Amino acid sequence: MPGIHQQSADQIVEECREVEALGIPGVILFGLPESKDPRGASSLSAQGVVQRAIEGIRKAHLKLLVITDVCLCEYTDHGHCGVIEDGEVSNDATLPILAQQALSHARAGADIVAPSDMMDGRVAAIRKTLDEHKLQDVAIFAYAAKYCSGFYGPFREAAESAPQFGDRRGYQMDPANAREALKEVALDLEEGADMVMVKPALAYLDMIRRVREIFNVPVGGYNVSGEYAMVKAAARNGWLDEQRVALEILTAIQRAGADIVLTYHAKDAARWLKAC
Ligand SMILES: [Zn+2]
Repeated sequence: MPGIHQQSADQIVEECREVEALGIPGVILFGLPESKDPRGASSLSAQGVVQRAIEGIRKAHLKLLVITDVCLCEYTDHGHCGVIEDGEVSNDATLPILAQQALSHARAGADIVAPSDMMDGRVAAIRKTLDEHKLQDVAIFAYAAKYCSGFYGPFREAAESAPQFGDRRGYQMDPANAREALKEVALDLEEGADMVMVKPALAYLDMIRRVREIFNVPVGGYNVSGEYAMVKAAARNGWLDEQRVALEILTAIQRAGADIVLTYHAKDAARWLKAC
């Protein structure tokens, strides 16, 4: 993806200094381990890349909210968001691993853990584990309405996390279904989520609006890699004015009701808005 790079645990601290200086309030970390295995074991290690990155950011005393992605797909050799049993993703076998991963992030100093796997019951499992370890103050930002979308393509290549077989239709939501998303949000909140995410954002602005109107918690809109790449590609071809279109899209996500916008445009947008 143009302008987006994988970073080492050391580099990320410098990146975060720049992010803080631009006035961006927080970052979300996704891990890319040195080795992958069927169960995503490296995601739990205190020496893992995300855990080390969090510690580095904490040591640098940056005024940034540190959010971590909690999922297995970046860490499994098959690329699915859960462990595989009998050829299928096993929901229940995945829950303890996600909970341990969230715990390791929280111990390293994460403010917020963001489970993106879409397994049933994962918010409750993570909340219980965090509470048992006296980490009540660590918040859960649940990817509650995560649609099975073609807009994730560029990220999967960048994170080397495309499923090696099958797809994620079994656990991500059907783009045509609005009511299921509302049900998922209600369930995640019942299980203890503190805030919820709608992903992707641009093709799902109606869902951001509906979630915002129905539930009284902070709502995140995730402006995903494909949405970003479209703007970049069109701008490169001289077809669109990048700054104008990117800010228009981010404004639309906020106007729809997002309290938090996650976007690859963040650094550019912060610079553009400063210059205004
Ligand atoms: Zn995943």
